[in-house]
Amino acid sequence: MKMTDTIEQLNGMELAEVYDLHWLYHHDGRGYDSHDDEFNYCYDCANTIYNFLIGITIEKPGAKYLEIPDWNDCTEKNTAIKEDWGHHAYDTRQFCYLCGCILDVPLTNDGIESELDHFESIEEIKSPEDKRLFLEVLREIEYVESENFTFEFMTTDEIEEANQLYKRALDLLPKLNKAAV
Ligand SMILES: [Zn+2]
Repeated sequence: MKMTDTIEQLNGMELAEVYDLHWLYHHDGRGYDSHDDEFNYCYDCANTIYNFLIGITIEKPGAKYLEIPDWNDCTEKNTAIKEDWGHHAYDTRQFCYLCGCILDVPLTNDGIESELDHFESIEEIKSPEDKRLFLEVLREIEYVESENFTFEFMTTDEIEEANQLYKRALDLLPKLNKAAV
């Protein structure tokens, strides 16, 4: 079974949605708050928190994984919602801290490896969320199949590493449950 065929099949399946990554920016007048980059959200959740921080809404949003930023004196001038444009690759898959949805970010090789570890540890790739996460991993490593290496930028070791990740991903294809959930 080829990876590109599987990617095509996955595209036709029921998958969890992915959302663009946003974070909240806050300037307290003395310097950038060190917490700026630790909180990643989908736009809707970033907006919910933003509205609370600057006082448009009163009820504090409840976070699924972490507390929301405890910044004081937030105003429209010193606080903003920022969007990640996909320049930065992450070592782990990113989820919205408020609602837990999957965020659309590129992964480093370490990030791909930890996703492969996850799929190697489960029996079957079945839920719409796992199928989405699996699709995202395959997309990251698909280029190996077409040997579309950017030789100017990749060392022999890096190509070898990519080949290893590709082989591991290929071994996982039979775990994919083709039936609709
Ligand atoms: Zn969210």
